[in-house]
Amino acid sequence: MHFQLSEEHLMIQKAARDFAQNDLKPGVIERDDHEKFPAEQVKKMGELGFLGMMVDPKYGGGGMDTISYVLAMEEISKVDASASVVMSVNNSLVCWGLQEFGSEEQKQKYLMPLAKGEVIGAFCLSEPEAGSDATSQHTTAIDMGDHYVLNGTKNWITNGGTASTYLVMAQTDAAKKHKGINAFIVEKGMPGFTVGPKEHKLGIRGSDTHSLMFSDVKVPKKNRIGEDGFGFKFAMKTLTGGRIGIASQALGIASGAYELALAYSKERKAFGKTISQHQAIQFKLADMATEIDAARLMCLKAAWLKDRHEDYSTAAAMAKVFSSEVAMRTTIEAVQIHGGYGYVKEFHVERLMRDAKITQIYEGTSEVQRIVISRAILG
Ligand SMILES: Cc1cc2nc3c(=O)[nH]c(=O)nc-3n(C[C@H](O)[C@H](O)[C@H](O)COP(=O)(O)OP(=O)(O)OC[C@H]3O[C@@H](n4cnc5c(N)ncnc54)[C@H](O)[C@@H]3O)c2cc1C
Repeated sequence: MHFQLSEEHLMIQKAARDFAQNDLKPGVIERDDHEKFPAEQVKKMGELGFLGMMVDPKYGGGGMDTISYVLAMEEISKVDASASVVMSVNNSLVCWGLQEFGSEEQKQKYLMPLAKGEVIGAFCLSEPEAGSDATSQHTTAIDMGDHYVLNGTKNWITNGGTASTYLVMAQTDAAKKHKGINAFIVEKGMPGFTVGPKEHKLGIRGSDTHSLMFSDVKVPKKNRIGEDGFGFKFAMKTLTGGRIGIASQALGIASGAYELALAYSKERKAFGKTISQHQAIQFKLADMATEIDAARLMCLKAAWLKDRHEDYSTAAAMAKVFSSEVAMRTTIEAVQIHGGYGYVKEFHVERLMRDAKITQIYEGTSEVQRIVISRAILG
């Protein structure tokens, strides 16, 4: 066992850090304020190869490992979690899902432009009445021979308005329960497919979250992913990898807030010395640094297991639940260290605190992660 990153890993980490500092940081407060999607920045992320990092180069991707993805996600999330959620969904849920389970034709047609970042994708599982209990799909996909007809509503879909390619789960045979669910590739513009209004959120306000409506949408049979009834398994397998992405996003939010708090503590003076010289502040910083280190190791371990094709589902759930809770604790303390300045937008930490909360909710709430972990340890 060795805890050293390769030269290549360090280069990718630096490229992501430079992009975050130079391209994402300017304007991040305004984008949050005005709920503005980082369109230009996402385009550049695509050009730099951050949207299809783990995809085989023959399908237009970067051919990188999951460790590289964790490192890049951390750097980008330190600055702008609204941009990093686009990256996470596109890489882990959409591109990875298509690469692993898509047909050759689907890979040529849909994965290529997604991996190159020419278009972005969305992953559509949640519904108004199906969140943690994703088996309870109300969206239906009726088999009509050479095509399916989709009807229903999806909720909270990240990249809902900006995506071109949507991976949509729907129930084909309710009698078979979750084994009757299928996954489909739906294109924006297919007749009967409409995008609802944008959600107004507490955090990741620059990200683009919408409900989606399907009314008699005809989807060709060749757009089904995998065998008939594979949809639920498809969703669970992709979400397991997705948790490494969201765990890394939480890690980045925490480390971004910690770095700001550390720097501020060395500048701000109170009672004749910098606040970093007060032990109460030193202990807060010590706790933050310790927890962030642990979260990073957990994210990297889950990524390492995935890269070795070993079972990473428990490690990914542990990394997600721990990193997201570290993100909450760290960002709250970062605001505290900034005092009144932490409560206003210019100092960034209040935004990071608002952004942290979603990491405990999406791609499986903290309660759901604990269900996954307890099932694994109790058998
Ligand atoms: C900003 C945002 C972006 C999102 N992006 C996407 C996306 O791109 N694609 C997508 O498909 N979905 C997306 N989601 C949906 C997200 O994954 C769900 O909100 C999440 O899975 C929780 O589902 P729910 O909101 O229905 O809550 P519920 O499932 O109703 O849960 C409510 C509460 O009950 C708890 N709970 C539920 N069941 C149990 C149990 N068995 N034991 C203990 N506690 C339980 C939950 O943990 C939670 O605390 C997004 C959500 C948000 C807010």
